[in-house]
Amino acid sequence: MNMLSSIWNYKCPRCRQGDLFVKPFNPKDPLNMHKECSNCKLNLHPEPGYYYGAMFISYIWTGFLCLSIVGFCMLVLGWGANSAMAMLIFIMAVMFFFVMRVSRVMYIHLDVKYDPSKKN
Ligand SMILES: [Zn+2]
Repeated sequence: MNMLSSIWNYKCPRCRQGDLFVKPFNPKDPLNMHKECSNCKLNLHPEPGYYYGAMFISYIWTGFLCLSIVGFCMLVLGWGANSAMAMLIFIMAVMFFFVMRVSRVMYIHLDVKYDPSKKN
């Protein structure tokens, strides 16, 4: 499994086998993560506030998505500003949990190197 499919499937950055988030998805607790990887025992909460850095990745994602969606609606489809904003609000509401989760997964992938030989 390469890094992109590991991020897309919310897998552990070290072994790329274990899940990061508790399944099934619960909308009341969308960021419910396991304490450690089920496969390699990587600690997924190394310190309090570890995932604050994921906010910056989320900010980049959100800015890029908003510009792309409004740009596509106004420049390609020729919509007015009000219609483009309504479409933006709808798409961002649908993608809200996805952006939060994928930002956390990208953040831990930046921090932890791929090393399938390690077992704690
Ligand atoms: Zn793992």
